[in-house]
Amino acid sequence: MKVSTAAAPLLSILPEANFLVDPADFCCTALQATSLRDQVIYPTSAAYNDSVSVTFAANARLSPSCIVQPHSAEDVSIVISTLAQTPCQFAVRSGGHTTWPGAASIEQGVTIDLSTMNDTTYHEDKGVASVLPGARWQSVYQTLEPYGVTVPGGRSGAVGVSGFLIGGGNSFYTARVGFACDNVENFEVVLASGAIVNANRTSHPDLYQALKGGSINFGIVTKYDLKTFRHETLWGGLITYDNSTTDQQIDAGVDFTNNIHNDPYASWIGMWGYNSVTGQNAMFNALEYTKPVAYADAFAEFLKIPNTTSTMRFASIYNLTMELGQTPGYRYIYTTGTYRNDATVVRKAIDLHNNYIEKAKADVKSDYWAIDTMVQPWPKLFSQRSVEKGGNVLGLERFDENLIQLLFDFSWDNQDDDALFYRLGESILEELDDFAKSIGADNEYVYLNYADKSQNPLKSYGKENVEFISRVAKQYDPDGVFQVQIPGGFKISEV
Ligand SMILES: Cc1cc2nc3c(=O)[nH]c(=O)nc-3n(C[C@H](O)[C@H](O)[C@H](O)COP(=O)(O)OP(=O)(O)OC[C@H]3O[C@@H](n4cnc5c(N)ncnc54)[C@H](O)[C@@H]3O)c2cc1C
Repeated sequence: MKVSTAAAPLLSILPEANFLVDPADFCCTALQATSLRDQVIYPTSAAYNDSVSVTFAANARLSPSCIVQPHSAEDVSIVISTLAQTPCQFAVRSGGHTTWPGAASIEQGVTIDLSTMNDTTYHEDKGVASVLPGARWQSVYQTLEPYGVTVPGGRSGAVGVSGFLIGGGNSFYTARVGFACDNVENFEVVLASGAIVNANRTSHPDLYQALKGGSINFGIVTKYDLKTFRHETLWGGLITYDNSTTDQQIDAGVDFTNNIHNDPYASWIGMWGYNSVTGQNAMFNALEYTKPVAYADAFAEFLKIPNTTSTMRFASIYNLTMELGQTPGYRYIYTTGTYRNDATVVRKAIDLHNNYIEKAKADVKSDYWAIDTMVQPWPKLFSQRSVEKGGNVLGLERFDENLIQLLFDFSWDNQDDDALFYRLGESILEELDDFAKSIGADNEYVYLNYADKSQNPLKSYGKENVEFISRVAKQYDPDGVFQVQIPGGFKISEV
C-alpha cells in the first residue's frame, strides 16, 4: 500500500481556513497549494472549456469551480487526500459518457478529470493489457490490434473504459467471456485515505469483487489490468430496414436471444430510431460475429428480412466500434429496464416508441430531436459466463430465464425541452414496466450503465449484493467520503 504525503503540508492550514469565501473556491485553492498547482484549471481557460465539453451529453456538462487533471495514481492520491480533509464536494470523470447531469461532474465543486491518464500497455508475457482510466475503447483496441489480441469493451469506440468496467460492460463478446468487468484481473485503486492499493483475486479480494459492478462507492480506479484474448477479424455492421418489418424483427430477436448459447460468437442489438431532421422512423440491426465467418446461421432470421442498406463486412473490432455510436453534444436521457425475453414486451416497447414520437411532436421546441429504442439480449448464458470467471456483484445469476434489456434513449438540442424529455423518458419506462408486470414478464434488474438518476440500479442487484457492497464501501472508506463528498454516480448509501 502506498500513501501520498504530498498533501500533508496543506492539511495543517485547513482548520483555520476562512469559509467566508465560496467553499468551492476554497477547495480549488487547497488543490492549488499542492504540487499539482499547474494541473488545476479554471473557467477562464480554454483547457477548462475543452475538459467540460469532453462530456458526451450537453445537459451533463456542468461548470465546476475548477477542474484538476491528475497524470498518475500518485497525483490522484494527492487530490483525494487533500479534498477528503475538507468539506469540499467533488466529482470523478473518465470518459464522461453517463448521460445524467451530475453523474461524473459537478456544479460548484471540483471535477477530477482523468482524461489525461489514457495509455494502454500490452504485457505479452502475461497476456494482460494495462489500461489507464481515462482511455476510450477505440484507443485500447487500436493499441492491442497489432499484437493480435483484444479485450471485451465498448461497442461504440468513443465510450470511456472506467464507468463501463465498474458498471458491468456489455460487449460483442459477452456470450463468450462474460461482462467486461469479469475480465479485469486487477484494479489499481486510490482509496479515500490516499492509499494506493491493488485489488485482485489474492490482494483485497473483497474490493476486487465489489468493483465488478459496484461503481463509484469505494475508490478511484487508476489502472485496469484486463485479460486479453486472440483478436480475430469479425463480420459485422449495421443493417437498415423499413419500420414495417418490426414484427419479423421482434420474432427474430426473441428467437436469437433464446439461442445464443448455441452460437456465442453472434451478437445483436436491435434499434428503432426516429429522427426529427429526416422525419424517418426506421429499424436498424447491429449484427456482429466475433470470428471471420459471414452469414452465420445465428443471423439467418434477420438476414432474410429485406433491408434498405447494409454495411456488413469483415473488419476489426476497432473498425466496427467506430461505426456505432451517437453524436456527442446533444442533450440526452437514457432510461432502461430488464424483462423476460418475450415478444409481447418488445412489441409493447415499440408501440410506446411510436406513441412517444407523437407525444413529443405535440410539444417539442427543439430543431433536432430523436427517440431511439434499443433491444439487447441478456440471456442466462451471460451470468453463467460471469460465474465461470469468479462472479461479480450484478446479481444476475439469481434469474433462471433469458432476459432482454430495453434502453429508451431521447436526444434533443433545445434546453427548453429538458423538462419535456425528462418526463417522456421516465414515463415511457413506467408504462413498459407496468405492462410487463401485468403479464408477469417483469424483472427487477436495472443495468447501471444505462440507468437514469431517477432509477436505483444498485438496489436491483439483490439484498445479498447490496449488503456486500455496503460492507466493502464502509471497510475501504470508513468516513464515507465517496458517499457524502462525491454526490455523483449511484451510491450504495442511497439504496
Ligand atoms: C454512445 C454510448 C454508447 C455506449 N455503449 C455501451 C456498450 O456498448 N455497452 C455498455 O455496457 N455500455 C455502453 N454505454 C454506457 C457506458 O458503459 C456508460 O456510460 C459508462 O459509464 C461510460 O464510462 P465513462 O468512463 O465514459 O463514464 P463516466 O461518465 O466518466 O463515469 C461513470 C461513473 O463512474 C465514475 N467513475 C469514472 N471514472 C472512475 C474511476 N476511474 N474510478 C471510480 N469511479 C469512476 C463516475 O464518477 C461516474 O459515476 C454507452 C454509452 C453511450 C453514451
